[in-house]
Amino acid sequence: MYSSHGATRAATTALRKQCRPTFPGRVLGSRRVHARAYEFLQSNHPDFTESQRTVREAIAKIVSRFPDEYWLEKDSNHEFPHDFHRDFARDGWLGICLPQKYGGSELGISEAAVMMQTISESGAGLAGASSIHMNIFGLEPVVKFGTEEQKERMLPPLIQGKDRACFGVTEPNAGLDTLKLQSQARRDGDDYILNGSKIWTSTAQTANKILILVRTTPLEEIQKPTQGLSLFYTDLDRTKVQVTEIQKLGRAAVDSNLIFFENWRVPAADRIGKEGDGFKQIMHGMNAERVLIAAEALGLGYAALRRAAIYGKERVVFGRPIGKNQGIQHPLAESWIKVEGARLMVYLAARLYDQGFESGEYANAAKYLAAETAFEACERAVLSHGGMGYAKEYHVERYLREAMLPRIAPISKELILNYIGERVLGLPKSY
Ligand SMILES: Cc1cc2nc3c(=O)[nH]c(=O)nc-3n(C[C@H](O)[C@H](O)[C@H](O)COP(=O)(O)OP(=O)(O)OC[C@H]3O[C@@H](n4cnc5c(N)ncnc54)[C@H](O)[C@@H]3O)c2cc1C
Repeated sequence: MYSSHGATRAATTALRKQCRPTFPGRVLGSRRVHARAYEFLQSNHPDFTESQRTVREAIAKIVSRFPDEYWLEKDSNHEFPHDFHRDFARDGWLGICLPQKYGGSELGISEAAVMMQTISESGAGLAGASSIHMNIFGLEPVVKFGTEEQKERMLPPLIQGKDRACFGVTEPNAGLDTLKLQSQARRDGDDYILNGSKIWTSTAQTANKILILVRTTPLEEIQKPTQGLSLFYTDLDRTKVQVTEIQKLGRAAVDSNLIFFENWRVPAADRIGKEGDGFKQIMHGMNAERVLIAAEALGLGYAALRRAAIYGKERVVFGRPIGKNQGIQHPLAESWIKVEGARLMVYLAARLYDQGFESGEYANAAKYLAAETAFEACERAVLSHGGMGYAKEYHVERYLREAMLPRIAPISKELILNYIGERVLGLPKSY
């Protein structure tokens, strides 16, 4: 029914048919199994499945066309990477996890995580990943809870790159306490009237669509705190929605915004699922979201280690390469071990998600570990470069600025520890 995306579609269809081989018992022969941290996007991870390896190699080809210099320019000029987004749309990757019926490839989070890690690891970092992130799993509520009419109307244009969507959940006055969202939607005939504000809404400068969570029943009137919120996927009507960019530390190529809306009329036909069920619907995709952010963080960690390893071999001080000093070598070696350890957790969490496990221990733990170890690797990469680590032309300062973000969003490390403390350790709820 919908146009296919040529080679990518054929490749991903073949991939779906393949079994995903598990590693134990597989004969490796003489294949080199260890990764080399200084190589650009090597695909020797011994635990990649065939489908993951195929995704890795295909994405590596695309991202190689967008070197670090491209991302430095986008970062410096605060410019959205339109051509990068266009190439991913053209090659059919924007629908990697979305159903085939609507033009997607219907692969798993295990493959999508490889894609996001590879993008970030190329030097595109979180700017590259965030420019398409919303496509990967953002519309999962539409897939799971939308009507057939909504899926046919909403999914193909997003997959084809014709629509750009942003995600409006966080509010200035609610923060991480999503159940206290204040923005309201009041039913009026065939429409809802929306009033309120959102903060940090990424890509709202260029998006024409928004997935937005608002309150349809006042907090005082609901029986359970998880009720009363509803989800809409609708046009971002700029005559009613004021979008103001927030100046921020990093990921400057991809904007984040304060949005304010007053008497914004939204068709009831754009409400996803039942009124009042929005929180449940948003939660559905949260674990996948955490795995993807974790994979993006990993990418930054590997990119930083690659640059540091290369610099450590090239830069000569006191008559020898600085990498010969254990003070340089050991922190980088330790970081590789830690990031690689995080990677195992990330891909375990992805596999469990694809196998239908719904609880969030591993997705949360993966996000925590990947964010923390990647940040440390980036910091060490900057320090290993000495003064040049502070210079934009060596790129590691950009990685470090971006590496702060997965530690904060979409959920902070404190909230992850709260979750593990309560759900895994069985301790009293602390918040
Ligand atoms: C660059 C960027 C892009 C973003 N993009 C989007 C987007 O596109 N869409 C969107 O909806 N949101 C987006 N966000 C928002 C992001 O998800 C939130 O910033 C994040 O969830 C943290 O919420 P907050 O900033 O309100 O922190 P707060 O809720 O104000 O928390 C502040 C601090 O207090 C700590 N804290 C709060 N309560 C507790 C507790 N009970 N126990 C322990 N610690 C606690 C937190 O861990 C945190 O460290 C983005 C954020 C950033 C920075």
